[in-house]
Amino acid sequence: MKRSLLDLDINELKEELLKIENNKFRYKQVYSWLQKGASFDEMTNIPKSLVEILKDNYSTGHAGIHTKLVSEIDGTIKYIFELHDGVLVEGVLMPYDYGNTFCMSTQAGCSMACAFCSSALDGKTRDLTDGDMLAQIIAVTKDAGGERPVNNIVMMGSGEPFDNYENTVRFLRRINSENSLNIGFRSISLSTCGLVEKMDRFTEENIPVTMCISLHGGNDETRQKIMPIANKYAIAQTIDAARRYFNKTGRRIIIEYVLIDGVNDDRKNAEDLAKAIKGLNCNVNIIRLNEGREGFSPSSRNKTAEFIKALSENKVKAILRRNMGSDVNGACGQLRHNIIGED
Ligand code: SAH
Repeated sequence: MKRSLLDLDINELKEELLKIENNKFRYKQVYSWLQKGASFDEMTNIPKSLVEILKDNYSTGHAGIHTKLVSEIDGTIKYIFELHDGVLVEGVLMPYDYGNTFCMSTQAGCSMACAFCSSALDGKTRDLTDGDMLAQIIAVTKDAGGERPVNNIVMMGSGEPFDNYENTVRFLRRINSENSLNIGFRSISLSTCGLVEKMDRFTEENIPVTMCISLHGGNDETRQKIMPIANKYAIAQTIDAARRYFNKTGRRIIIEYVLIDGVNDDRKNAEDLAKAIKGLNCNVNIIRLNEGREGFSPSSRNKTAEFIKALSENKVKAILRRNMGSDVNGACGQLRHNIIGED
């Protein structure tokens, strides 16, 4: 397989191109073209001879659009991207009043095996490189006709970013740099099921994104029923790591809580959650389960309201996150799983 040029950061690209020709400036032109999603043939200011060598030996690393579904309800666009090696990953572009949020994948599939999540169904195909992650954003940007449509990025698609730590950190540094799409860390949210050692390592990277923690249980017992990671780390350890990230970065944490009927939506879980996050500077996002996996259904509107009320009585302010793209398999892994399942 040809090496993806998009996997190289600007310095690595410089080194790589110097192996081919003695030109100290070319890398900047090529890097810039790559960030725009240009094919080799579209790199008009690059000599034909070099273009031919690049074509023979490398792929740009860009992603193609395999499937695109536009929601009639809210304009959400669900994408399945085909990476340069044919692997499929998904992304979702959600239009909000304050700008477009793009939900991207960090792995093809996932190994975390959360019982309610469709991304877990087929296991992990492979980690995404930083280039594969950039490729998703470049593809969406290009699809919007060149105008930058991505204002905010949420790393909440398939995959566990901290199970793919080095590539995730490389991606974040690159997307934030002026040579690339220059998207501010404050416009990026990273969601993790709570790999505690990696959270602590990330705290030291000086990357102040919004860290979102998938808790989905007020106590360890509930969490262990639906999230295997809960057998490795107690909620208290996860919250302590979140606290350290906040102390270092000053970025308020988001606690994510998917309400699942009869599993984690009782008053005890609300009270335990309030206790577990006491003193943590955070917002709680309540999410209604997107149906996909057998045996799991969303809590009723009444139960959802009761859960939020119980939290509020325990001095926790929670918001209900809006469901987007329900008519285009908006939720994690659903569309990809359906497509892979067809093969
Ligand atoms: N692995 C990371 C990020 C990807 S999942 C994490 O666990 O946070 C992004 C979010 O979607 C997580 O909070 C995840 O638990 C949630 N999620 C997974 N399946 C869902 C479903 N069917 N309905 C609603 N949210 C779901």
